Amino acid sequence: MKQTKIDWCDCTINPVVGCKNGCPYCYARKINNRFHFIKDWNEPQFFPERLEQLKSKKPKSIFMDSMSDVGWWEAKWGYEVFKAMSKNPQHNYIFLTKCKSGLNNGIGTIWTLRSIDKCRNIFIGMSLTRDDDFNGLEQYDFLSIEPILEHINLSSLKYNLYVKQVIIGAETGNRKGKVIPKKEWIDDIVKQCDKAKVRIFMKESLRDIMGEDFRQDKLIWEV
Ligand code: SF4
Repeated sequence: MKQTKIDWCDCTINPVVGCKNGCPYCYARKINNRFHFIKDWNEPQFFPERLEQLKSKKPKSIFMDSMSDVGWWEAKWGYEVFKAMSKNPQHNYIFLTKCKSGLNNGIGTIWTLRSIDKCRNIFIGMSLTRDDDFNGLEQYDFLSIEPILEHINLSSLKYNLYVKQVIIGAETGNRKGKVIPKKEWIDDIVKQCDKAKVRIFMKESLRDIMGEDFRQDKLIWEV
């Protein structure tokens, strides 16, 4: 398992590498360009041998798709990954996606099998960066707003029965056109989360911007 600087998990596994979302700020693509795990970043590839690492006995919170988006995984890859997770219930498994759930992709497969098996250690989050990415009806366990690129209206969160946590972070690195979030954007998200009784977790990238209002509630996979 790969240790990570991501502050809301212990490590990453990445049984799939590559993603078709094309985000301009993508750090994973930069890493792939440097280390050449796969030839074409836009053609995700499955590395089933990486699942062997899940056998480690010490319980961990594992981010499963930091180098891909489970929404672009093939359904059969999702099935293989789910089987490996079921055999290793000592860990928490965390997925992020920008895609909609569908029967024919990795996220749909994991979602369906998770419901059938009633697993409580698999968490699926929606990744968003802009206001129109959230319609309030999403059935995800958490939202990851990273990097936040504009004010995002979460007033509909209080009507959502599924989302239990919001993670927020700023764009890092020295990309040209990088967006520095305004404190008011984050304050408003905190207000909406408090109204909806949703946990908030700010990444270290927001510490200076938020000052005394910096906040990290306990993560849902830690309770
Ligand atoms: S969804 Fe994630 S992995 Fe995919 S292009 Fe965007 S930042 Fe990169």
